[in-house]
Amino acid sequence: FDFPAPANEPVYAYAPGSPEKAALKKQLAAFKASQADIPMYINGQEVRTGKTVDLHPPHEHQHKLGHFHFGDASHVNNAIKAALDARAQWAATPWEQRASIFLKAAELAAGKYRYHLNAATMLGQGKNAYQAEIDSACELIDFLRFNVHYVSEIYRQQPVSSAGVQNRVEYRGLEGFVLAITPFNFTAIAGNLPASAALCGNVVVWKPAETQVFAAYTFMQILLEAGLPAGVINLIYVDGPVLGDVVFKHPDFAGIHFTGSTGVFQQLWKTIGENIHRYKTYPRIVGETGGKDFVVAHKSADPAVVATALARGAFEYQGQKCSAASRAYLPSNIAPVVKELLVAQLKTMKMGSPEDFTNYINAVIDERSFNKITRYIDQAKQAEGVQIIAGGNYNKSVGYFIEPTVIETKDPKYVTMCEEIFGPVLTIHVYDENKFEEILEVVDSTSPYALTGSIIAQDRYAINLATDRLSNAAGNFYINDKPTGAVVGQQPFGGARASGTNDKAGSALNLHRWMSARAIKETL
Ligand code: GLU
Repeated sequence: FDFPAPANEPVYAYAPGSPEKAALKKQLAAFKASQADIPMYINGQEVRTGKTVDLHPPHEHQHKLGHFHFGDASHVNNAIKAALDARAQWAATPWEQRASIFLKAAELAAGKYRYHLNAATMLGQGKNAYQAEIDSACELIDFLRFNVHYVSEIYRQQPVSSAGVQNRVEYRGLEGFVLAITPFNFTAIAGNLPASAALCGNVVVWKPAETQVFAAYTFMQILLEAGLPAGVINLIYVDGPVLGDVVFKHPDFAGIHFTGSTGVFQQLWKTIGENIHRYKTYPRIVGETGGKDFVVAHKSADPAVVATALARGAFEYQGQKCSAASRAYLPSNIAPVVKELLVAQLKTMKMGSPEDFTNYINAVIDERSFNKITRYIDQAKQAEGVQIIAGGNYNKSVGYFIEPTVIETKDPKYVTMCEEIFGPVLTIHVYDENKFEEILEVVDSTSPYALTGSIIAQDRYAINLATDRLSNAAGNFYINDKPTGAVVGQQPFGGARASGTNDKAGSALNLHRWMSARAIKETL
């Protein structure tokens, strides 16, 4: 059975006076006033523990949006049990039926619940309307639809048979349950990590980031309305160590689908290793972790293209994308113009609440992030050979606001060129325009990560050289564009080195990891 490749979901513009803008504004107001009482979902049932955690918009931390119910080890155990109880029937459900549930969820996300998802993402995660739209509407919908197409392509791959011998391969889910641990920064990723595994016939325990619960819960409601059977995906909110203690000792733990920090991922991997003797099957470990993504410009680059790639690549969603441009290498001939154009562009970016659609820059996710990011800025203010050429101010009295900040350093290995900051901070290093090959070597060796990166040049030789020399420095490599904004079905996303297992979200490569194949030979 073949599901044809869908087209990407069209992006709404939310132009002034448009009906989409009015509808989204209405949903924002409704959620803002709703005081949502958000349950966990175990075995299709809402679970309220009475032990609640308040939710606040990052841009207005005194406002209470509502609360969610927090669980403990018993809820982890219940979620695993519900998943395992649901497994046999889900695995036996015809594939077309499983797929049709996720296609129905895509339809609900594209229509009836589009503004719910966007409003929850805007208020809960501090995205502006456009950043929410490309994430919690379009990318989420694209993941659901394209994954159905990719799975159908995988299932079609069958071995040859011959006279007297019939061969076939069954692509089953894993034997056990899958754990999905999902990040705050993309509602699409949060939804995709449990959904892609479940689509392949797996049952899932899903723990979202606490700062993403509002949108995660909205998506869970969509899945259930689309007909997802009870227990196939169980959504729980618990402390990481409590979760790990139960899950990683469980014999039926069969895999983890993770997006988050490198440190946490490495810790989880070690814990899984320590417990390896307990498991029935070798768990699949799939993770997308950090990034320290580069933009390298060649002396032939158009300065306006470089400035725009930096303004957008570094500061959209306050730089809180694993893919965000956070280190730039500018050749000496065009550096002054690029800096001038960049600073001018940043001046036009208004900062404030995403509820006002004219604000391009919003708050960072929470106080912990705010403190971490501003520490790097303060350090740069003191450091020698380092200058702040734009921004540098911050204020957390109302929300966690940090100005888009550009640091310039003479030392290409200065700390903000190397470490992931995950905020609106870009560091620039100007290099001798005649030392392009040398700078490519610096780009490749400066950070442990290899997620995204861009080369900006008009000279084809320079493009080819960078593409070749940086072949292991980025899983997603861009030529004459910003390093963010991978689109499902167009640029499968993921990186290697310390950035993850490079199992490319939004592609067949990722879905293969959630399948355990059986080859059957029948002699006739
Ligand atoms: N896929 C996103 C992009 O291309 C980034 C995802 C992430 O931040 O984890 O910008």
